[in-house]
Amino acid sequence: MNRKTALAAAVAAALTLGTAAMATSQSVAQASPTTKPGSGFQAMSTAGRLAAMDQAGKEAAATAKALGLGPDERLLAKDVLVDNDGARHVRYDRTYRGLPVVGGDLMVHRAANGKVTSTTWAHEGALKVAGVTPKLSTQDASKAAERSAKHVEEARTSNLDSSQLVVWAVGKVPVLAYRSTVTGAGEAGANTREAVLVDAASGAVLDQYEVNPEISGTGNGVNVGQVSLETSQGGSGYTLTDALHGSTVVYDSYNSPQSNPAQNARTFSKSTNSWGNGSTSSRESAAVDASYGLAKTWDFYKNTFNRSGIRNDGRGAPAYVHVDNQLLNAFYDDSCFCMSFGDGSSQNGNTPLTALDVSGHEMSHGVTAATANLNYSGESGGLNEATSDIFGTMVEFYANNSTDPGDYYIGEKLHMGNGYLRRMDNPAADGNSLSCYSSRAGSVDVHYSSGIANHFFYLTAEGTGAKTIGGLSHNGTPCNGDNFNGIGKDKAAAIWYRALTTYMTSTTNYSSARTATLQAAADLYGANSQERYIVSKAWAAVSLGTALPDPGGSTGSPSPSPSGSPTGNPNPGNALTNGDFEQGATGWTQSANDITNSNQQTPHGGSWYAWMMGYGSANSETLAQSNIAVPATGSPKLTFWLKVTTAETGTTPYDTLKVNVNGATLATYSNANASAGYVQKTIDLSAYRGQTVNLQFAGQEDAYLATTFLLDDVGIG
Ligand SMILES: [Zn+2]
Repeated sequence: MNRKTALAAAVAAALTLGTAAMATSQSVAQASPTTKPGSGFQAMSTAGRLAAMDQAGKEAAATAKALGLGPDERLLAKDVLVDNDGARHVRYDRTYRGLPVVGGDLMVHRAANGKVTSTTWAHEGALKVAGVTPKLSTQDASKAAERSAKHVEEARTSNLDSSQLVVWAVGKVPVLAYRSTVTGAGEAGANTREAVLVDAASGAVLDQYEVNPEISGTGNGVNVGQVSLETSQGGSGYTLTDALHGSTVVYDSYNSPQSNPAQNARTFSKSTNSWGNGSTSSRESAAVDASYGLAKTWDFYKNTFNRSGIRNDGRGAPAYVHVDNQLLNAFYDDSCFCMSFGDGSSQNGNTPLTALDVSGHEMSHGVTAATANLNYSGESGGLNEATSDIFGTMVEFYANNSTDPGDYYIGEKLHMGNGYLRRMDNPAADGNSLSCYSSRAGSVDVHYSSGIANHFFYLTAEGTGAKTIGGLSHNGTPCNGDNFNGIGKDKAAAIWYRALTTYMTSTTNYSSARTATLQAAADLYGANSQERYIVSKAWAAVSLGTALPDPGGSTGSPSPSPSGSPTGNPNPGNALTNGDFEQGATGWTQSANDITNSNQQTPHGGSWYAWMMGYGSANSETLAQSNIAVPATGSPKLTFWLKVTTAETGTTPYDTLKVNVNGATLATYSNANASAGYVQKTIDLSAYRGQTVNLQFAGQEDAYLATTFLLDDVGIG
């Protein structure tokens, strides 16, 4: 299955494809310095080299087959030299199931008539590797590399990203290996770097060598401006291989079809480490955008969520720029574990689709595929798209690039007719996207149903009302006329990421996404947190569910003070220990930390009370005390003060609080018993006269809409 998750909706499909003319005016890397006169090679013009590389790319698949390579192996054209007599020498790099093959390179020699005359192999023949699942963890590999690094003192691997999987084909038998980069003091200074290759099964060191520390290049992108890039040394110069971010390689797809962006692909390589010229006149400029954007996305996930790449395995996904012709789209394809970026069309001034938020968007599709794997249709498809918009936006904020400051617009750098592709504060402003949940959500294009979750995210982060963010006007436009402040984008993103990775599945719909985020907010900030409350408000503001009760308790429902309301110990003859909770948890056994003096709710007396339930998702809790001596005379009673607040409506008891004595339920309260203030409850215990009993309050909530039960001043006497 070739499942692609694209950036744009139908916009690209309406385009007529242009002709596949190779623009000879485009500046490219100069011919490799090894192309010296006098070595038997032709002097090649830029156009000639382009044509030769193009041909080598087109021949790659057939060449692999003719050479007997396996179905898991790919050849990527790296360089072409042409002899004076027209014979060609094509250098290829090899991948195995997407992993770089160290020692997989080869040179195919062709006569002027195209016939293969011989092949020079680094490792002859097809590769057979037992599998690409390592036995060793990346951490173990990093540790082994640190121990073994010879050239550096105080060796350290800064993070997981320093170990990446490769196929090591230098020896006779190819093995899966980690290539770790270790840094420390050494011959090249304080930041000498050493590569250590470790067998991914046995941990044995396969090779180690010093790495040139000067690998930061400079780039000038179409969308991102002047930036620094992580590149690698290769061949006679540099390549756009980002060794610090999982060896992410940006390739020139060279107008390969969307169905196979690698078809004519070639590596970007040149003798200087300076890339692009800030405009599309250089094929490198869009590659600079992509290399930078994917590195920033990697760093965002790494530094924010400690996630090491799309699949959290330290491995970068290759990216292809210049895919297809006049393509006003970009997409992630999980089947090739790769990303494709079009060059844009006349509709957007031929601006490549390589803006920062687009790179973040596409790589985030990979993260979704590796986690919740939300089906790309119906409501789950909208959530999939929204996830990419949310994290694409977060990447833009994270990068803090003055050429493209953070905002909640998607693709605002792409010169679209109305100035953007989508906006999260007011999705419906584009004329197609949904701002509010409705039954249509499952039947519109996923790029339009994403609006609901985008809107939810914006409102959670920024709240309602007008704001200028990143120089652009934003206006949180709730569907229910509510107004509230947000919790900030970092907390909102943490909640979404946790919901995505922990509580969403392929079939999650909007209703279950709401539950997932409420659960994530409870995990991160507490069931009774303001954060979780705002999440519920933001969902309600996009017409999904009802807001939870305000845990701040600040809104005008003061508890009434019934006459004779006790404070402190309500009952001198109380058989319970600490029935008023003023000694905290003393005497009680609780399944959650329900006994609290939080000022977010009001106690009935004193400052402590028990706060049970209020999750808005399926949950249960108990609060109990045992060995209670019920008086042997008179009419013993259990009394307590109860305040029920709920987001439920109607009298059906969805969420309940049971009062159990010795396992028998003597009373049940529910959302139907909601009250503005505390109400005293009395339960007859005559049947237990003179007995030693256990008392338990047991709360239970269903999957939707919270009900909170507050208990205080409990007495038995
Ligand atoms: Zn998308």
